[in-house]
Amino acid sequence: MTQENQVSLEKITSLSKRRGFVYPTSEIYGGLTSSYDYGPLGAELLRNIRNLWWREMITCREDMIGIDSQILLHPETWVASGHVSAFNDPLVEDKVTHKRYRADHLIESWLEKNPQDEEVVVAGMGLTEIADFIEKHKVKTPDGNDVFPPKAFNIMFQTSIGVVEGEKMPVYLRGETAQGIFTNFSNILNSTRVQLPFGVGQIGKSFRNEITTGQFIFRTLEFEQAEIEYFFDPEKTDWHELFQDWQSQMWNFIHGTLGIREDKLRWRRHSDQERSFYSKETYDLEYEFPFGFKELWGIAYRTDYDLKQHMDHSGKDLRYRDPNDPSRVFIPHVIEPAVGVNRILMMALCDAYWEDIANNRIVMRFKPNLAPYKAAVFPLVKNKPEIVGKAREVFHMLAKKMGTNWDDRGNIGKRYFYQDEIGTPFGITIDYQTLEDDTVTVRDRDTMKQDDTVTVRDRDTMKQERVPIHDLADKLLGIIEE
Ligand code: ATP
Repeated sequence: MTQENQVSLEKITSLSKRRGFVYPTSEIYGGLTSSYDYGPLGAELLRNIRNLWWREMITCREDMIGIDSQILLHPETWVASGHVSAFNDPLVEDKVTHKRYRADHLIESWLEKNPQDEEVVVAGMGLTEIADFIEKHKVKTPDGNDVFPPKAFNIMFQTSIGVVEGEKMPVYLRGETAQGIFTNFSNILNSTRVQLPFGVGQIGKSFRNEITTGQFIFRTLEFEQAEIEYFFDPEKTDWHELFQDWQSQMWNFIHGTLGIREDKLRWRRHSDQERSFYSKETYDLEYEFPFGFKELWGIAYRTDYDLKQHMDHSGKDLRYRDPNDPSRVFIPHVIEPAVGVNRILMMALCDAYWEDIANNRIVMRFKPNLAPYKAAVFPLVKNKPEIVGKAREVFHMLAKKMGTNWDDRGNIGKRYFYQDEIGTPFGITIDYQTLEDDTVTVRDRDTMKQDDTVTVRDRDTMKQERVPIHDLADKLLGIIEE
């Protein structure tokens, strides 16, 4: 079945709100810039993404462990990591409306409309280069106005600990989860039996005072990251090979595990100019969002930069002693794959969206393991206690094993329409035939009879088949876990 790309940001935003994936936050007060809440379906989808990531990256690997560090870390952490001095975005202000923009994004939009013969690499441009470019090409804001000269804007959120004015300690909401892994490096070595090479993963909220707005949940002030620091001995492990292994892992997770279309994915290598000074290699796995190919998941070889910085700033020894050669004591190197969980969710929404024109329906074709609900259970009619009772039994049997939705509103057609729009792969109807099967059966087992059958309707093909209730959960789980 082909899936044409008819998706636009407006369609995704409106479906998300209409069906309860994503709501603008604090909407009754007029909302808050670049901030969103997740409704019932969004919450399930986020949880599925986290669980699949954790299972594949941590649980199923011998060489990985997970931690859960704080959002508030000691402020020196962020001085050591370089975030306090260098976690900056180039900010420009509209001279008339005083709206603020990311200068690099204004230049990128200008370049899309005014393609140049020679490639212009915007990422990594310094403030002077940005100012020169804006001046030379008369780059304007979307309102058509000039801008004031660009300034560096630090995107760390600051708050404070303590109650007495004047004695409060300034701290930061973490700008990435990774630093909590580095600051725990020696705790991890001392409390577990890991040996190089090994990785540490973590999922949690990060905060950035982002300037840019308007791309739905692509870039928000508060978001969730799933980050890995993979530590290795640079003398024993070839970093090129390790880097490629991780690239394959990332691709397999997005395409294989989450079922995202391969033609919507591509790798982009950071140029020398764009790459951070401490990184020897950086790639972005990009997805083609409705506004073009954009970073989904970054991977960087950060050498021993972070551990070295924390050693210098804390005065603590964060070196690793080779168990096979105790005279060898060194700072491990790391490769860091870092992804945003909300950005994966946004990709999943864009990739699943399908307008099935022939059948006049919208279908969210999530791979079943990703779908918020795997099954929906419908009693054919509401006024037949035997049918409703049997349907409830089926609901409770399935709900213990998979996300299941109960729906007895309206007619079956409307229920299918709704479940297609929220991406439920299987619609299960308990009808008169279920009861008939019930009466002819001879083998009782608990309250279910072995030969009871229900109708299972497939979301994508709309085909229906009768399945014995006692096979139902295993059959569905078999497909979901494929
Ligand atoms: P950009 O340059 O686009 O601001 P970045 O390269 O600084 O992003 P990283 O620090 O590498 O991003 O963060 C790792 C991942 O976290 C990104 O690939 C993205 O999926 C996610 N991410 C980063 N910032 C945000 C944000 N503001 N909102 C949602 N997800 C984000």
